[in-house]
Amino acid sequence: MTSKPVLSVVVPFHNEAACLPELLKRLKEVLVPLTQASYEIILVDDGSTDSSPAFVQNAAAADSKIKAITLSRNSGHQAAIGCGLEYASGQAVITMDADLQHPPEVIPQLFEKWRSGFQVVRTIRISKNRIGLAQKLTSWVFYRLFNRISEVQILPEGSDFRLLDRRALDAVLSLPERQRFLRGFVSYIGFKQTNVEFECPERFAGQRSYTFRQSFALASNALLSFSTAGLSLPFFLGLASLCVVVLYVAVCGYLIWAGVFALSAGWLSLFTLGLLSLSLQLITTGIFGLYLGKIFLEVKQRPNYFVAATQNLEGPVRKP
Ligand code: UDP
Ligand code: MG
Repeated sequence: MTSKPVLSVVVPFHNEAACLPELLKRLKEVLVPLTQASYEIILVDDGSTDSSPAFVQNAAAADSKIKAITLSRNSGHQAAIGCGLEYASGQAVITMDADLQHPPEVIPQLFEKWRSGFQVVRTIRISKNRIGLAQKLTSWVFYRLFNRISEVQILPEGSDFRLLDRRALDAVLSLPERQRFLRGFVSYIGFKQTNVEFECPERFAGQRSYTFRQSFALASNALLSFSTAGLSLPFFLGLASLCVVVLYVAVCGYLIWAGVFALSAGWLSLFTLGLLSLSLQLITTGIFGLYLGKIFLEVKQRPNYFVAATQNLEGPVRKP
């Protein structure tokens, strides 16, 4: 086997036939001069159903620096990145999307930061109009909530476009959870970190394949992985509702004593309080359920992807 490359670039893709030729062309233009041709591009097919697997197969057959991994089915963006990271053998690894929203032309800046001694180079998107209002709002709520309750902090305009030095990569891969929220992991591991800003364009071609369900799963996984705040929520809610009830009883008691209203006049408020306490109980039980579900998935220790085939690769550098 040839010696280890300086740089590995890991690209998960799902139905990106319209983007991959342009991506590979632009990646090569950047990587050849930057690394003196000591690079590998690992393309992870996350269950594509279009012609992208065939394109990648031909590209890998023509160029041994292009390495292909085919997952057995669609396992999700985070799982596909995780798989690529396990196979990457470079001294540094860059992860990026296939749709050119992470422009290859930014790679030299990440590389230079790494060369100057940084072990984690994160990126920050600076274009604001790329996403719709609903997505903007939900992501604002998510980041506010995450950074308030979690043990690590993440950047609102961060993404999975980043460079990891081998040591930082090994640290990420040593974290035992199966369900990975890589952005949280990267903050958690520490090391010498820096950021690079980049203009994030519209996707080059094709459709966004992240579904609302996937986005919700990613967000809830992130929150549940990095915070136990939900587990103590019932205690504080219980305390707050107890205060409300005590206050309510005191006020009603006084008003009845003072003859302002008869005993039966408070039925509506009682009904409201009953409903309030029921919904609080359901919400808090629901949060317990979310944590329990997560523990259940972790306890099963099922791999979050299966590799159906590889090309130009021997096996994972680091076993999952
Ligand atoms: N992707 C993937 N598996 C999926 C969904 C998406 O590997 O199940 C890839 C996709 O091909 C792209 C990247 O993940 O390279 C980001 O996805 P997308 O562009 O759909 O999301 P957005 O950039 O809009 O958040
Ligand atoms: Mg995209």
